[in-house]
Amino acid sequence: DKAQIGVTGLAVMGRNLARNLARNGHRVAVHNRRRERTDELMEQFGSEGEFVPSYSLRELIDSLERPRRIVVMVKAGGPTDAVIEELVPMLDREDIVIDAGNANFEDTLRRESALAERGVRFVGTGVSGGEEGALHGPSIMPGGSASAYRELEPILRSIAADVDGTPCVTHVGENGAGHFVKMVHNGIEYADMQLIAETYDLLRGVLGRGPGEIAETFREFDRGRLDSYLIGITAEVLDHTDPRTGRPFVDVVLDQAEQKGTGRWTVQNALELASPVSGIAEAVFARSMSGQVQLRQAGRDLPGPSTPAERPDPEQFVADVEQALYASKIVAYAQGFNQIRAGSENYGWNIDYGAVATIWRGGCIIRAKFLDRIRAAYDQNPELPSLLGDEDFRRALEQAQDSWRRVVATATSLGIPVPGISAALSYYDTVRAERLPAALIQGQRDYFGAHTYRRTDVDGVFHTEWAGDRSEHEA
Ligand code: NDP
Repeated sequence: DKAQIGVTGLAVMGRNLARNLARNGHRVAVHNRRRERTDELMEQFGSEGEFVPSYSLRELIDSLERPRRIVVMVKAGGPTDAVIEELVPMLDREDIVIDAGNANFEDTLRRESALAERGVRFVGTGVSGGEEGALHGPSIMPGGSASAYRELEPILRSIAADVDGTPCVTHVGENGAGHFVKMVHNGIEYADMQLIAETYDLLRGVLGRGPGEIAETFREFDRGRLDSYLIGITAEVLDHTDPRTGRPFVDVVLDQAEQKGTGRWTVQNALELASPVSGIAEAVFARSMSGQVQLRQAGRDLPGPSTPAERPDPEQFVADVEQALYASKIVAYAQGFNQIRAGSENYGWNIDYGAVATIWRGGCIIRAKFLDRIRAAYDQNPELPSLLGDEDFRRALEQAQDSWRRVVATATSLGIPVPGISAALSYYDTVRAERLPAALIQGQRDYFGAHTYRRTDVDGVFHTEWAGDRSEHEA
């Protein structure tokens, strides 16, 4: 009997995805460059379902029914290209290659068009949820031709996370759309994590509470509208005691956050699309700054606030911080979804934003109750220019804003950095503003570079003779 699907690349992600497929009744051919991983999978998990071990890509291909479906789950970048290059000459028209690694969507665009020329269908697929998600049900974000998706859909639905009977998988759009949306997902994940980290830092720095107490506060948050995977694991991490020293785990970990690059990609792309994602950018920069040992060393002597600020009432402050976190989170997601909109328009993907919110409700790292509200917002108006304009979110922001401002003011007066929370508030105030100082910037640009400006009262493009008699003429 031929296998229904093949998986090549059996490190943690590929192995667990293959197990997930087998556990859901699919006959899975498995392959890895080094045979040890294949043998290991067969030894440890071979009884979980029907696996067909293969020790070369040729063998893998020959064991598959047609059109073939092959999941490539190897290291992103060069290794993915290497595997595709070896694979494709052996494939037939209509076969489907599914790249489930964390590819940059621009690579996916390139690969999709190269394979299309040979009649091979390429499905660049975002997968989120880490190794546990891969095994028990990830959020799956496939991009590629609709025909390929239709054929893969039953398999993908069977292995995806499930929320209230709805599998967390949808056809995101053509070619690079899936990996693009996965990229923005990771960017939002960076922003979410940064906001939570700032909230912890405030509770600690302002109220002087310990990690265990703060874990309890996050558990409370997790019972309300902030209910999410990231808040839940935050409480777990804060509650953990280092077995070596008996101290809170969070106090023995080096405070230098690392990154693999997907957050950076999100910001780079946002710059290309001129789609402001200040929350994500601040989160990426905050990680970079944490790792700048010399910079931080040099800064250690800089003075902090000279007059001791008044400490707020603890109960009020906890409530304020919850509001600030929620409001900032709305802004971060609004920015992320606007980037998805900008990408969809720029690359012609026609992405359904509500569907994206739907598949992020389960399986992935940013899974949260909150995403139901985002889906509802787009259900109500699929063309919503910003989530901030949704009636429900508008009300939440209205309710949160005084708290939000108090939190930023307290942090500032005590000298506690809140780049994420304050950038979110600035974004909020920027979109609210009736007039922006951009008018002055236009004046400056016209002054030094004759870059011209437009007026509020008359149509046309103008220039002022700054160096001369300061008369204005139409440019
Ligand atoms: P790694 O990213 O660590 O990649 C290891 C796998 O890639 C091994 O199977 C390895 O084979 C194979 N490989 C590396 N170079 C080559 C090559 N030149 N030719 C053939 N095979 C090669 O594995 P992960 O399981 O962590 O991740 C797999 C993919 O999933 C990556 O793209 C990753 O970004 C993505 N991803 C990972 C998540 C995670 O939480 N880890 C979450 C979501 C996506 P060998 O055993 O022979 O060395």
